[in-house]
Amino acid sequence: MEKIKLGISTCLLGENVRYDGGHKLDRFLTETLGEYVAYVPVCPEVECGLPIPRESMHLEGDPESPRLVTSRTKQDMTDRMVRWAKRRVVDLEREDVCGFIFKSNSPSSGMERVRVYDVKGVPAKKGVGIFARIFMDQFPLIPVEDEGRLNDPEIRENFIERIFALKRWREILAKKESRGNLVDFHTRHKLLILSHSPKHYQTMGKLVAKAKDLPLKELYLRYQTLLMEALQLKTTPKKNSNVLMHMMGYFREELSPDEKKELLEVIENYRREVIPLVVPVTLMNHYVRKYDQPYLRQQVYLNPHPLELQLRNHV
Ligand code: SF4
Repeated sequence: MEKIKLGISTCLLGENVRYDGGHKLDRFLTETLGEYVAYVPVCPEVECGLPIPRESMHLEGDPESPRLVTSRTKQDMTDRMVRWAKRRVVDLEREDVCGFIFKSNSPSSGMERVRVYDVKGVPAKKGVGIFARIFMDQFPLIPVEDEGRLNDPEIRENFIERIFALKRWREILAKKESRGNLVDFHTRHKLLILSHSPKHYQTMGKLVAKAKDLPLKELYLRYQTLLMEALQLKTTPKKNSNVLMHMMGYFREELSPDEKKELLEVIENYRREVIPLVVPVTLMNHYVRKYDQPYLRQQVYLNPHPLELQLRNHV
């Protein structure tokens, strides 16, 4: 698989672009995830023409549409930043990025809970950075996170799963549009979707079943929206256990009583959050290979992202 293109706040890559001439290098992003992604760095403050170093800035006014203002001399940079950001998102659309990792708390790049100061100078953590807001409005379905939230193992797993899924979907889009390609994609992703949202699994199943009745463009658009909506919902031990039990049903004839007992025990221990998801999934992969189960073999759920990222290793 070619590397996934991902937008990122430039300072997270270790570039000295911050207002004080420093950086915010994040080693997980550059070293571990960096093996699989090609970053497209974006520093709104430098790219809109501000120098390094520069006066620090903050948001102030209405949290819904705040102004970007320099902290000491009170220069309003909002219009300059908005003009630049609107041009930059057009470039990013051409770059085909599958996600964006923002720098937390930044008045330009923060995606949530950025401080916005009121007239009395009291901050409320209710804002969104000026560039981040324009990016998210332009690409509502593209996965976004910030480096702080990515320290949470569940959020990290969910985000990375989504960027890999979007990359696979973009590969389908790059081929000639056809109902067959879409049905094939859906078949491979069924259990992954089920692990996030049984409701979307049903709705998407119905959509694919009546694929012939819809114009191709509309079918693709509706499917893509549902896919990204579904994957945004968190998996839980309960949802994953249901998927694993569903998979076990495919081996009813083949598994020996001992194998059945062991698999049930492992799934139950995972459901009780005593062991991580990687354990039942590894055992399931073993039986898929041993009994050569063709439907399960093609399920992305069993290998949604590289094992080296260790995303299913948390309890
Ligand atoms: S937070 Fe955003 S604007 Fe600030 S230095 Fe990093 S990339 Fe540039």
